[in-house]
Formats: sequence, C-alpha cells, structure tokens
Amino acid sequence: MRVLIIGNGAAGNQAAACIRKHSSECEIVMFARESFPEYSACALPDVLAGWIPLDKTFLKTSLDYEQLQIKTCFGQEVNNVDINKQCLEAGDKKYYYDRLIMATGSQPIIPKIDGSQLNGNFVVKTPQDIERIIDHKPTRAVIVGAGNIGVETASALRNRGCIVYLIEMQDRIMPLLYDKKPADIIQTMLEQEDIRVFTGERVTGVAGEQQVERLLTDQQEIECDTVIWAAGVRQNVELARKAGLKIGGLGGIEVNKYMQCSEPGVFACGDCVQSPHVYTGKPSLSLLWSSAKRQADVAAANCMGKLDEYEGNCSVVIEEIMGIPCVAIGLNLHGLAGYETEVIEHESEDLYYRLLAVDDRVAGFQCVGSLEGTGSIFTMIKKGTPLSEARKLLHNKGSISTMAWYMDSSRYIFGEY
Ligand SMILES: Cc1cc2nc3c(=O)[nH]c(=O)nc-3n(C[C@H](O)[C@H](O)[C@H](O)COP(=O)(O)OP(=O)(O)OC[C@H]3O[C@@H](n4cnc5c(N)ncnc54)[C@H](O)[C@@H]3O)c2cc1C
Repeated sequence: MRVLIIGNGAAGNQAAACIRKHSSECEIVMFARESFPEYSACALPDVLAGWIPLDKTFLKTSLDYEQLQIKTCFGQEVNNVDINKQCLEAGDKKYYYDRLIMATGSQPIIPKIDGSQLNGNFVVKTPQDIERIIDHKPTRAVIVGAGNIGVETASALRNRGCIVYLIEMQDRIMPLLYDKKPADIIQTMLEQEDIRVFTGERVTGVAGEQQVERLLTDQQEIECDTVIWAAGVRQNVELARKAGLKIGGLGGIEVNKYMQCSEPGVFACGDCVQSPHVYTGKPSLSLLWSSAKRQADVAAANCMGKLDEYEGNCSVVIEEIMGIPCVAIGLNLHGLAGYETEVIEHESEDLYYRLLAVDDRVAGFQCVGSLEGTGSIFTMIKKGTPLSEARKLLHNKGSISTMAWYMDSSRYIFGEY
C-alpha cells in the first residue's frame, strides 16, 4: 500500500506517524512546498519575543523522517491531483497512490488594499517570516487583527521593545474565543504593558513611499514602520478544488466523520478542512493544532482500514498573555448565537471565569488567571456532559484534586459545594 500525504504541518506529520503505527510496511511519501522539516507555528511568537531561539521551533530533523521510513519530497509543490488515475504531479514527476491525504493547511490573508505590498508588511506563519521581521528591526508596529495570533504577536513585539498598536475590527479582542467581559480584562492586561489597543476600527490602507510609514484606519492614522497582518487565514484548497473534491460553504474541503473527501481513496485533515462542530453539529473551521492532530489520526486510521470517527471540532486555546494564563474552550456567546445560554461567572482579584451552558449542558468556558481544570472541562464540553453529571463525575472520580481551584471558587456552579 502506498499513501501520499500533501503537507508537512501538524496534520501531515501526525497522519504519517499514525499510519506508521498501524503498519510498518506501508510506503509513505510526504510533499511540502517548504524544504525544511516540521516546525511548530504555535512557538513562532515566542521566537519573536526573544524567549526561544528559532531552531527550537523545529519538531523534527531529516533523520526522524528516515527513522520512520517516510520518504520526503520537500521543496516540491504538488501541481495536480488526478483522482481517476490515482496520481499526483510534483515537479515533472508523477506519483501514484492507493490512498491520498490532503493536509494542505492554510495561509494568512493580506488584504489587497493600498500599501499592503510595501516593504514592512509581514505575516507570522513560517520560521522565515520571523527571520524577516527580526531583520527588518521594527520599532513601531501595528498588528492588524486581535485573534490569538495577533495578541501573541503584539506581546512578543512589545517584549522586543517595540511601540505596539493592536487593531481589531470587532468590538473586542479575540472575538471568536472570548465574550466581551473576559476580552476586556485581557485588553486591560495588554494596555498595562503599554500595548495600544483599538477595537471597532477598520483598516483602510497603508501609506509610504518605498516602505511602510503609516497605517490608515477609518478613525485614525498611525505612524509605524511595520504592519503585521493577523486578520485571518485562507484554506489552501485550490489543489483539491481543481481535483474535483467538494469544497464546503466555509471554504474548507468537505469531509465526513471518517475524514474522507467526496472522492474515494482521498482523505483530508487539518486547517484545510471544514468539519461539524462537536456541539452545534454545524460546519465549522477549527484552524487549531489540536484539531489538526486529531483529524489526522482519524484520517490515517480510516485510510489504513481501521475504523475511527472524528467527534467534531471543539476549540481549546491556552496561552499565557503577559505572564497570565488564559484559556478559552468550546463556544463563546457569539458561537452560541440562537441558543438560550446560561452564563455562570466568577470574578475575584486574580481570577475570572465564565462557564456557558445550554439546556444544562456545558458548552463553553473562558478563564483568565488559571489553567487548572482545563483538561476536565474540555472533556465535559466534548462529551456534552450535563452540569448535573459534571458534578457527580467530579465528586466520584476523585478528580477533585486536579479541579481543586475550580471546585473551590465555583461552589455555586455545582450547587452542593
Ligand atoms: C503564529 C501561529 C500561532 C499559532 N498558535 C496556535 C495555538 O496557540 N494553538 C493552536 O491550537 N493553534 C495555533 N496555531 C494554529 C496551528 O498552528 C494550525 O492549526 C496547525 O499548524 C495547522 O496545521 P496543518 O498541518 O493543517 O497546516 P499547515 O501548518 O498550514 O501545513 C500545510 C502544509 O501543506 C503544504 N502544502 C500546501 N499546499 C501544497 C502544495 N500544493 N504542494 C505541496 N505542499 C503543499 C505546506 O507546504 C505545508 O507543509 C497557530 C498558528 C500560527 C501561524
């Protein structure tokens, strides 16, 4: 059996490792545009901040692929997939497959507005992007988009001593993860470190002669030498579209719960797919490392004839912002629009959290100040555990020690505590 994998990111590598676990015989060939081994995109802001060296972001060496008996065609763009002939084209060669895994990922969007091509515009996606930003020696930077990548990039550049502005079009930072109140708490934390945050503002252009000099919004002009675009990503689905695979309404490759695409023998996983949300069952884009890995496990297992089902997307984003642990799991009020949602909040001097529940089921959790209990809450949300069951589970399983802070500070959530 020969499996070809397009993509050397979290999804492609997890799929390859999982296939190898299922079979020592199977021939595995991986393709990637970049010529270097797997790296962690999540660690890139830490390099920008100066906390870790760039080489620490690489998760594999060439030897690791050899040891797993994975053939690599890195630095090779796949130009065409012929589903009928079960082959793909890269360079001037054709490669035939029994199974194909599309793990083509996503890329950051730079909008086509005035000045966005000037020297001084950047994105944060690859190790080279970080090298380019550092070589540019930014002193006044505007980060466009205050999702988690934008916020991490802003704090990283602040740590390098830059004057940093963070612009967000929505009414709050990290609008897909947090509701207004916790988002405002995090915004205050950023502002206390002198990051200048502007929400509800739309970027209209970038001005400068050869080089970025100013960023223009619908409300102001900001003098700067660097603009970093963190305003969303686009799924890499052109190859899949050209091959005749179905693309969903959200722009991701359509897959079933086995991560199978619309054509036989082809699977997909990671940022390039859209899958049902674990809670709502509606199509969603996850764009997270943990989902990419889980989807890859499912794709790999099914492609090797072992049955595995993807339970659906459930986001978990854990990060340290200005030294303070922050976590967002499941859906926020925006994601639960249309559902009658109960909000259970706790606020004390150094801890804020809110738990969202719909019909007695835990649906989302946002916390600033602690990470404890995160794993258990993630499981509860994924399983749709009712609040009452959650109470029993916590009590009986003796997980009280790991949940200690949670139980202690949220007595009223679980009634009897
Ligand atoms: C700065 C940053 C911080 C992040 N932080 C977090 C975080 O804290 N938590 C979290 O969960 N997630 C985070 N993410 C998101 C997470 O990194 C991604 O969800 C995950 O890496 C996606 O992996 P992937 O394999 O699906 O895609 P990608 O990593 O995008 O890999 C796609 C691969 O496909 C290859 N490819 C595409 N088209 C072709 C072609 N035609 N021919 C050959 N090769 C092709 C590319 O070369 C690449 O190797 C972060 C992302 C970034 C950029």
